[in-house]
Amino acid sequence: MKIKCNLKKDDKVKVVSGKDTGKIGKILKVDRKKQRVLVENINIVKRHSRPSAQNKQGGIVESESPVPWSNVMLMCNKCMAPVRIKMQRLEDGKKIRVCRKCSEVIDA
Ligand SMILES: [Zn+2]
Repeated sequence: MKIKCNLKKDDKVKVVSGKDTGKIGKILKVDRKKQRVLVENINIVKRHSRPSAQNKQGGIVESESPVPWSNVMLMCNKCMAPVRIKMQRLEDGKKIRVCRKCSEVIDA
């Protein structure tokens, strides 16, 4: 099943499911094919890496791992809370995202 995703890079989101529930971060990358998002400081995993050209000693590297986008919700700057959003079409045909609660425009 395909879920519609209204998330974009640089969005501020709150994690609503999983081990980082309650944390807030910025989206670094959206993977539409896998329906996952990479969020700053969320879902940090430790990877054991072999010595390489970039990292001569090898060892443990910590980095973000993508989470399903159903696990995060977009934050509204006015509500200061994760909110549902709706799409609104402007007169010029441009689509913008709007908070369902307070009607604040989320796209700048
Ligand atoms: Zn709002």
